[in-house]
Formats: sequence, C-alpha cells, structure tokens
Amino acid sequence: MAEITLKSLAHSYLQTPDGDQDYAIREMDHVWHQGGAYALLGPSGCGKSTLLNIISGLLEPSRGDVLFDGEVVNALPPEQRNIAQVFQFPVVYDTMTVYDNLAFPLRNVGTSEERVRERVSEVADVLELSGQLKRKAKNLTADEKQKVSMGRGLVRDDVSAILFDEPLTVIDPQLKWKLRRKLKEIHQRFGITMIYVTHDQLEASTFADKIAVMYEGQVVQFGTPRELFEQPGHTFVGYFIGSPGMNFLDVHVSDGTLYSGRTALPSSSDRLLERVANCRSDNVKIGIRPEFIEVSAVPGGGSVEVDVDDVQDLGTYSILSLRLGEWPLKARVEEGGVTPHDKAYIGFPERWVGLYVDDYRVEMDHE
Ligand code: ADP
Ligand code: MG
Repeated sequence: MAEITLKSLAHSYLQTPDGDQDYAIREMDHVWHQGGAYALLGPSGCGKSTLLNIISGLLEPSRGDVLFDGEVVNALPPEQRNIAQVFQFPVVYDTMTVYDNLAFPLRNVGTSEERVRERVSEVADVLELSGQLKRKAKNLTADEKQKVSMGRGLVRDDVSAILFDEPLTVIDPQLKWKLRRKLKEIHQRFGITMIYVTHDQLEASTFADKIAVMYEGQVVQFGTPRELFEQPGHTFVGYFIGSPGMNFLDVHVSDGTLYSGRTALPSSSDRLLERVANCRSDNVKIGIRPEFIEVSAVPGGGSVEVDVDDVQDLGTYSILSLRLGEWPLKARVEEGGVTPHDKAYIGFPERWVGLYVDDYRVEMDHE
C-alpha cells in the first residue's frame, strides 16, 4: 500500500506541444494519501484517464515524477508498480471460466491455490458471482463481464492501490447503485487506497471521502463533498457541483457600492468591498449557491428587487429563475418557503458569498 505523489506532472500526447492547450495534463502537484477512498471527478476529456494511466505506468508522462511512498517510480513498468486497474469496458479472458479469470491476477504473483480459492470465493461473494464461477466468460452478459473485470481488480489484497476508470458505465442503473456500495464496503474492509474516476458528481460523493475535481488537465480542488459544495475553490467547481450550479456575477466597486454591470448588489461586507476595490484583475466575480440566496416577497434589510422569470416546482423544493438587471440567477426555495411570482427581493448572506479572482476563490476573513 502506498501514498501516491504526483510532482510537477505534465503530459502532452503531441511530440512538440505548443502552449497549454496542447497538454492533456497541465503542470500539477497532487498527493493521494495511503488508504483513502478518492474520486477523480471531471467532464469528459479533462484528462482523468490520462492521469490514471500515468499512475499505473501505462503511460509515461512528458514531464514530472510519480512517487510511491516517496520513491520515484517513473521507470517501473505497470506490472512492477503493484497497482490494480479496472477499465470502463470489461477486460476478461473469454475462453477462461469466471473462476480462472478471477484467479489470474493471484496466480500471476505465485499465490497458493488454497489462498486463490479463498480470495476468489470472497470476491465472488461480494460481487454476487458465486453461482457463475464455472461458466465461460464469453457466455456472460456485459454486466456480468464487467463484474468479473472489477473482481480481477479487487482480488489481490497486497496491491498499492486500485484505480477504477468509470467502471460502472456499462452496468445497469440498479446494479450500479449496489456495486458502488460494495466498493465502499470493500474499501472499509481492506483499507486499500482507491481512486475512482467518474464524471458523475453523485457517484463521486457516494463513493469518496475526498474528491479531486479535474478541469482542463489540472486538479482544481481536492476536498470533501461538503467543502466542494460550500466553498468551491474554483468557478468550475461551482458550476459543476450542485444542481443547478453556483451563480456567478462579474463585480466591481463604485462609490463604495458593489455593482454587477449597472446593477447595485445587495449590501455586502466592507471586507468584500475592499477586496474587490483593490483587485488588479478584470476577472472578478462573486459566487453564491442557489440554496443560499434569501428570497422574500417584500422589500427590506438591504435586499434588492429582481424579476421572477420562472418558478419550477420540483415537489420538495422550487427553482426560481430570477433576473437581477441583465444577470440571470437561480435560487432554490425549500417546500413551504416563499415563491414569489413576478417580483422578488433577494439577499446574499455574507457567509455564503465567495470572491473569485481569475476563477480561483480568494479566502475571506469569515471563512
Ligand atoms: P477523460 O478520461 O477525462 O475523458 P482523457 O484523459 O481520455 O480524458 O483525455 C484528455 C485529453 O487527451 C483529451 O483532449 C483527449 O482527446 C486527449 N487524448 C486522450 N488519449 C489520447 C491519445 N491516445 N492520443 C492523443 N490524444 C489523446
Ligand atoms: Mg476517460
């Protein structure tokens, strides 16, 4: 088992990359601590598979180092890195039985047949494959094949880490939910470092204690699901996590008032005004989640008037589409809360307003 460190890592698939846009991984540092259950979350094409393949050794990075427990492993081939990897699509030997498929990674490292039997039966039990052990893999359904493929990743308990690359893509939704729970159980039982790649925030937060959010070839935030929700470290995390995503408004200060375009915003702290007034960048935004906007049907307490364009009733809550001057905003109101039509008055509680300069969050005093 190992702590995995990525140091000044960068990768381009091109021979002569020319600028950031040519890099699948843009220079980054990151540490995966021993024993954690992690998710690597990001949209398609952001570099998740590239990063996993660099960790497992299938791909040699253009620059930088991969370290296991402080030792550089760049020169080690995948089989010597002692890492199990489960891919998006099943990797099974069709002509072998399910049992032999599961036994393969163990026999490969010279495990005794007695121990093989023990482990195969344990993993088959967890994945509900016990009744299929004698079947040839080629006769299995796509779901079953992927379970075997996952079993091959889980069968060795002496690996440094297990990497899962969107392993539940081909699995039907009901089974998906069950398998995710199983993986979590397996993690708790064996304490092996697991990195689970997905583009689905729900999948990430049900599996992982900590999520690395990846965007354009970099990890832009590494935090608990709650941290990603309450304090997104980057505007992308704000958009990507939550439904609907965080509201962002371009802001500037004029005559001691915070404006977005020509619209004055609800009263804000002196600290925020001072920070915004002193910003050199022309990319300055405040962010607030739809859940944290205070909505009222009557004016008062420093609130501002907005137009209500639409109210979407989703049962236990409603999503309000608002317009503040020319800026669209979303607010979420729980069942029983005020859902004004036509006009509403909104406030931004100071605690829930984030300041973003060049897309990264600037820590404020109240945090
Ligand atoms: P993800 O797994 O997050 O969807 P990938 O790591 O597969 O992203 O891809 C990151 C970027 O690298 C994408 O722009 C993709 O087109 C590119 N890419 C991935 N694999 C290759 C490859 N073998 N050759 C060239 N470009 C690649
Ligand atoms: Mg991928």
